[in-house]
Amino acid sequence: MALTTVGIVGAGTMGRGIAVACAGAGLDVLLTDRTHDIAARAVEEIAEELDRDIAKWRHTASEKKAILGRLRAVDGLPPLEAADFVVEAVPDDLALKAGIFLELDRVCPPADVLATNTSTLSVTEIAARTKRPDRVIGLHFLNPGPRVPVVEVVRGLETSDAAVATARELVRALGKTGVEVYESPGYVTTRVILPFLNEAMQVVMEGVATAEAVDTALKLGYGLPTGPLALADRIGLDELMRWMQHLFQELGDAKYRPSPLLRRMVRAGRLGVKSGRGFYAYDASGPVKQAESA
Ligand code: NAD
Repeated sequence: MALTTVGIVGAGTMGRGIAVACAGAGLDVLLTDRTHDIAARAVEEIAEELDRDIAKWRHTASEKKAILGRLRAVDGLPPLEAADFVVEAVPDDLALKAGIFLELDRVCPPADVLATNTSTLSVTEIAARTKRPDRVIGLHFLNPGPRVPVVEVVRGLETSDAAVATARELVRALGKTGVEVYESPGYVTTRVILPFLNEAMQVVMEGVATAEAVDTALKLGYGLPTGPLALADRIGLDELMRWMQHLFQELGDAKYRPSPLLRRMVRAGRLGVKSGRGFYAYDASGPVKQAESA
């Protein structure tokens, strides 16, 4: 089946990135959030982000025009009836996602594949809330959605081969590489990166080195493109804490216990790039000064 229209639920960090990746690949995108205003504001912010990308030579003005021309903010879930494939990207909360899948199952044509971008929740459990568990799948895009070239294609217990093939077709159409994984908390990418990020936070908390020193040492020492604390800020510290709590609960291993520093920063509302302050301070153009003491 040719995919032409993708519905995206949740216009936050990931939903916006997935929307740009899809529209940039020539697909029509219907973007929805809790209210139409939030979705419309997200489209405006995507336009501003594309302007910054143009300044960095990542996009041309005509690509921006084409992307925005394929992107439409819609009101609620019913308009997603017009989509061929839906990707949900709301926060990692099972009750929230289950409610959304219940309604998507009602409004979307029965043949549509419904995907969740969850990093840690169970695809099988989300699928079980629908009448089409064979057509529910995990599509784990990483941040930033338009640029990270890999997507984990996650099979729940009931996911059919046909749904996997459709999801892989979408991933290919986006110019990305799909890696197939079986459902397990955190899959590969989240499960392996979390203890690394957490340990970097512990090092800062113990006063061994500043956030900036930790990032510089690891970036230069191991040839990483981004240091762990800048990466944590980009992912979102609240989201990271949710993932760790979930992995700790599911796998019972102390290596997934969130650092007290992470908890403290989330409680203070220092969530990283999205709130303007995390281990670093940010404005719309990126980090604005050196690492802050946490
Ligand atoms: P976010 O908080 O940035 O955005 C979530 C969006 O969902 C917000 O715009 C919010 O208003 C919206 N939302 C909340 N309730 C809604 C509802 N009932 N209906 C419609 N929209 C609703 O979160 P995020 O970081 O984009 O994470 C979204 C998903 O992507 C999570 O499942 C997360 O695990 C996964 N993920 C995140 C990252 C990352 O780096 N942040 C990476 C991979 C996967």
